[in-house]
Amino acid sequence: PEAITIQELANRMAERAVDVIKLLMKQGQMLKINDVIDADTAELIATEMGHTVKRVSEADVEEGLYAEPDHDDDTTPRPPIVTVMGHVDHGKTSLLDALRHANVVSGEAGGITQHIGAYQVEQNGQKITFIDTPGHAAFTAMRARGAKATDIVILVVAADDGVMPQTIEAISHARAAGVPIIVAINKMDKPSANPDHVRTELLRHEVVVESMGGDTLEVEVSALKGTNLDKLLEAILLQSEVLELKANPDRSAEGIVIEAKLDKGRGPVASVLVQRGTLKVGDIVVAGSEWGRVRAMLNDKGEQVQEAGPSTPVEVLGFQGTPDAGDRVAVVENEARGREITEYRQRVKRETLHKSAAGSRGSLEQMMT
Ligand code: GDP
Ligand code: MG
Repeated sequence: PEAITIQELANRMAERAVDVIKLLMKQGQMLKINDVIDADTAELIATEMGHTVKRVSEADVEEGLYAEPDHDDDTTPRPPIVTVMGHVDHGKTSLLDALRHANVVSGEAGGITQHIGAYQVEQNGQKITFIDTPGHAAFTAMRARGAKATDIVILVVAADDGVMPQTIEAISHARAAGVPIIVAINKMDKPSANPDHVRTELLRHEVVVESMGGDTLEVEVSALKGTNLDKLLEAILLQSEVLELKANPDRSAEGIVIEAKLDKGRGPVASVLVQRGTLKVGDIVVAGSEWGRVRAMLNDKGEQVQEAGPSTPVEVLGFQGTPDAGDRVAVVENEARGREITEYRQRVKRETLHKSAAGSRGSLEQMMT
């Protein structure tokens, strides 16, 4: 059954909660600010206080939140978004670090970088966005929410170890998401490196690399020595050319939360990967069941930015609460709309929790709420 807390109802009417409580008291109901009342009671109260009531369904609330796919005419090329996956200890973190540092322009503030869950590098004047948040978990969380946050998967396989359980897991993740794989055969500096063994093993999992007559790009690298990193970046650009990645930068932004935390000094901080449109300081954003006004944005170098276009990761300050990794982000027209959507989603969340907690006491719960 639909229900709402007294606080939420008061917020929505822009009335004081205490006045709502007084009215309920007159009707013989002794309730507190966080108590839940059913939709019929809420409607009665609202009408009595001179408000018109419009009950909304999920469809109403969510309508128009995520815009139509971009029209081809409005789109321009955007950087590819790349996730590195592979078995533990095969060198994912080392490779992400090496790529990032190899790319830091000498003299650039000592190469100080900010961890915001993703970063961008440039190769031949073209940008590439890497998600460096722990691979599999984030990927799975995002997919569970129906969000596709990756264009290309770099499958790291250690040349001295070969295909392992999480290598296979990564292959199936990429396949299920319909994302092309580029194989990075890592640890080539090791005397025990056996890249051909890796290729043969991959074949058994239907990943056919170019040198075996397939069309999966492959690069032999050493994250430790920094060998062939430029070749890997070239392969990414080649693959993204094939994918013809485009987006419309001239519309309100949509994206995805890649990380979020509550910072003692700065409040809720969300790393957002913009996927379409341009996110701007001052925008009202909704992410999952949280909303906020973008107060400031920082890029992966810790610099303040006013705008972030397609495929750009930014740290966003200004959320009222902390959203979850994997939450979809959308810009809405005003605060009221932000509040409406997130209060609705919070209520649905609570009701779902309530229901599962209530279990067989369902009928009793119904009587009490
Ligand atoms: P992850 O678990 O996949 O993130 O792997 P890490 O990046 O943490 O690397 C695991 C271990 O392998 C570390 O001790 C790295 O120093 C080492 N390692 C990573 N890349 C290379 C490489 O190219 N060559 C060698 N010899 N060791 C590497
Ligand atoms: Mg790691």
